Amino acid sequence: MNNKVKITFPSRSSNEGFARGAVAAFVTPLDPTVAELSDIKTAVSEAVTNCIVHAYPDAVGPVELSAEVKGENQLVVTVADKGVGIENLERAMQPMYTTGSPDERAGLGFAVMKTFMDEVKVRSRPGKGTRVTLIKYIRSR
Ligand code: ATP
Ligand code: MG
Repeated sequence: MNNKVKITFPSRSSNEGFARGAVAAFVTPLDPTVAELSDIKTAVSEAVTNCIVHAYPDAVGPVELSAEVKGENQLVVTVADKGVGIENLERAMQPMYTTGSPDERAGLGFAVMKTFMDEVKVRSRPGKGTRVTLIKYIRSR
């Protein structure tokens, strides 16, 4: 059964927990395992945190989150911003690469998303924004 929700919220760190919890609640009817739920929450948290920290430096802007169930067991989450975008995507997705302050950021957000989700796609245009698509097959064992 297909199902989809969309939420738009400002890029404030107080909304990160809401976004993570909203996706967790949305996916509950698919009866994910505790491990799957934890993976999804972690990945969503990294994607949303990137919008908060990087997309709108010293500003607040819109974050558009969508969560969709496709078919029997496919969860598709998109996290999009209209922020600064990413100049060199290949480099940005390398583990340990960060443009943030080295004592605060590890440069591991994308690596974490790739580890915990089945598919991660990123589209970005400098000056236009970034869209991250996270896909997970629930109970795919
Ligand atoms: P960590 O996630 O470990 O705290 P990080 O956010 O720097 O550190 P990644 O999440 O892997 O690491 O992101 C790598 C880099 O990609 C960031 O430092 C930033 O330059 C860029 N980036 C990621 N997401 C966005 C975004 N939504 N808008 C603009 N730049 C982004
Ligand atoms: Mg990050």
